[in-house]
Amino acid sequence: MIDAHTRLCAVIGNPVGHSLSPAIHNAAFQALGLNYVYVAFSVTDVAGCLAGMRAMSGFRGMSVTIPHKRAVMEHLDRISPMAVRVGAVNTIVNDDGRLAGDTTDGPGTLRAFAEAGVALVGKRILFLGAGGAVRSVAFAMAEGARAARITILGRTASRVKELADDLRAKTPAAIETGDLVGDLADAIADHEIIVQGTPIGMYPDSMDDSPVPHECLRPDLVVFDMVYRPLKTRLIREAEIAGCKTILGVEMLLHQAALQFELWTGAPAPLPVMRRVLLDNLAS
Ligand code: NAP
Repeated sequence: MIDAHTRLCAVIGNPVGHSLSPAIHNAAFQALGLNYVYVAFSVTDVAGCLAGMRAMSGFRGMSVTIPHKRAVMEHLDRISPMAVRVGAVNTIVNDDGRLAGDTTDGPGTLRAFAEAGVALVGKRILFLGAGGAVRSVAFAMAEGARAARITILGRTASRVKELADDLRAKTPAAIETGDLVGDLADAIADHEIIVQGTPIGMYPDSMDDSPVPHECLRPDLVVFDMVYRPLKTRLIREAEIAGCKTILGVEMLLHQAALQFELWTGAPAPLPVMRRVLLDNLAS
């Protein structure tokens, strides 16, 4: 029931019409009987939006999505060290007018790996792509998970170099780089974990595509595909056939949302409820 004590959470972005966050978080609030509600706002005026949040103490939490993850940072009172290093904030907590920013994409992905029973310490991890999502996860794996080596393969050399230089400057991990097509087969042969972070394989345009030729896949590989629509991409389906351990993109989506929920409410996230909402929405 919504009443005078209800606390507000919201996702801001542009566009936000496709966001699954309201469905996930409202189901989680209801499951725990918390007097919170979650809505979506399409926003262009970031400064005005955050001034409004600051002025409304009942406006407890915000998810920040594309294109505002960097722009919100200058309007916050405090930013977590990880979010500063990544250069992006996806979560804001409002404590009586003081706004704290954090990033849950990388830490949420670490939780997804932990829940899947995949240890990262000392591992050689190969990233495909060099965009915002790879950036968040690579920082978390380079510092939080103490990977032995991180290799970034991308199609635009300047973007790969920029990310690699930043990782080298801010984390202790050994970082290598290469071309997404030319260096792929040799790199896979030399790594234990693949993190797929390009849109290749995504619904609807490239569902029949995979960035990895199936003959490169071997049973001892762990394959994580960030793409979550479809739930099982071509890469994941071929990795399953090859006997690889697989982690679906929906697990990253789930765990980054669960960490947000915990920051806003202080309660452990009801993971089974949140996962069910995601699977129901993504299966249709
Ligand atoms: P982004 O910032 O736009 O980065 C996309 C990356 O993929 C860039 O490195 C880009 O290379 C590369 N790329 C794009 N199209 C390509 C193609 N046809 N061939 C080769 N490389 C290509 O996007 P993002 O936010 O990082 O998202 C990347 C993927 O992760 C998307 O599929 C998104 O849905 C998914 N994602 C999942 C979650 C989750 O919770 N599971 C969260 C965030 C994102 P250039 O630099 O050359 O353009």
